[in-house]
Amino acid sequence: MIAVGFTTSKKLIAMGRMQSSICRAGVAGIKDVGPMLQAMLPEYLFSLLKSIGQTASEHSSKAYVVGGTVRDAILGRPSLDLDIVVEGDAMAVAKSISPADSKKIVFNRAFGTACIPLDDEVHIDIAMARAETYSAPGALPTVIPASIQEDLLRRDFTINAIAASIAPDDFGTVSDPLQGLSDLEIGLVRTLHDKSFVDDPTRIIRGIKYVNRFSFVFDHHTQDQLELAIWEDAVKTISPHRLTDELRLLFIEEKPWGAIWDLAQFCVLNSVWCYLTIPHESLPILQKLEDFEAMLTEYLPDDYSIWLARLLLFFANVPPAKIADGLSVFDLNQRESRVVEQFVLVRDESLAAIKNMNSPKDSELYGLFSPLQPEIALTLVALRGKKANRVPLQRYFTRALNVAPELTGDDLIEMGIGPGPAIGEILKRLRLAKIDGEVRTREDERAVAQNILRNLAEDVETERKV
Ligand code: ATP
Repeated sequence: MIAVGFTTSKKLIAMGRMQSSICRAGVAGIKDVGPMLQAMLPEYLFSLLKSIGQTASEHSSKAYVVGGTVRDAILGRPSLDLDIVVEGDAMAVAKSISPADSKKIVFNRAFGTACIPLDDEVHIDIAMARAETYSAPGALPTVIPASIQEDLLRRDFTINAIAASIAPDDFGTVSDPLQGLSDLEIGLVRTLHDKSFVDDPTRIIRGIKYVNRFSFVFDHHTQDQLELAIWEDAVKTISPHRLTDELRLLFIEEKPWGAIWDLAQFCVLNSVWCYLTIPHESLPILQKLEDFEAMLTEYLPDDYSIWLARLLLFFANVPPAKIADGLSVFDLNQRESRVVEQFVLVRDESLAAIKNMNSPKDSELYGLFSPLQPEIALTLVALRGKKANRVPLQRYFTRALNVAPELTGDDLIEMGIGPGPAIGEILKRLRLAKIDGEVRTREDERAVAQNILRNLAEDVETERKV
């Protein structure tokens, strides 16, 4: 068994759990979630939900809203994804309710599902009510049509196994065969059966996500099963693609520190590959990372990846020689792989450089950070621990990064400097001089460029003589 550390912040979380369960008193007795759905969903989505229920009835089918949509409505949390299950012909229902742009529906006939994106943030998933069997641990399930009750039995946790009818005659009526409402009331994350984590170990990561997102706890037996599954190497059976997808979702949670801490404490990634551990002082490091991201939001590039910056922490102890093995655990895109690789290769040297920096000039900050992807720069400074402060990062992103000489390569050629590597070198030195405020006007730049050129020529002459 794995001992889970109970830090001060964990105690605070536990206190939060007690308070929030008081707010949920009475949830176990809910019979009709209609008013909650209406209160939580934007008006157009609520109307759409009703019309889907109507359409299903017209196809002699019955539609339910399930999973996160019901859970979040009861918890009073906004949710823009609708999960709908249809007893009957789900594909026909999906086709007939699709809004104007029906080309966008993505059907998966093997699983009997359809995904209808309404806009960038909102999408509707429609699936036939189904039962699932697993051919092997970690494999994708085989599905057969079933009733809503059977459909709920294949779900990950009781709090996600609650359905509400959206049929016109009993809209809002709850189906809760596994007492998910009671677990919601007392704040418990509980699996439906003992083999749940072995059948699908991504549920380990999902469970950690819910425990932390809602400030719930695992029920004791579920936690034992979770630890046992990890101990028996279940996480190793998750494909790199699914592992990466679940981690991506976990790491972009609003405050993912507790979940990342739990991942480490339960040895989830460590059980896949021994080097995937996070540094001891990770909670303050993660908080610092988030703080840096918040401070620099408007300066970070559009492709800055929050989830990737958190993943880097798990590469803090990976030896450079082992990087290929580390990358093979995940299914990263090209940029993500490059960032992880660069992080591992520059990590130790850059950390030493940051540590040794003493009142650095802006040009030194530029020299240190500009070759690094921004996720690496932020993670490295956060990793410096207590002594790391935000000032160097702030100065780099808000000032140094945006300073460029006015003169271009063409200007230098016009000044009589022949095309070649000297042009790049002069522009680089001009930028550093400008970053430190040593040149201000275009004329300053021309003078400094001539100077640099003279020095370069002298260097070449000296080298030739030697
Ligand atoms: P979130 O708010 O995290 O998106 P969600 O409940 O909407 O939560 P989804 O990943 O969208 O989660 O999945 C929808 C529903 O499908 C879940 O509520 C759950 O009932 C079921 N589900 C998802 N993944 C699994 C799984 N690995 N095993 C069993 N059921 C699952």
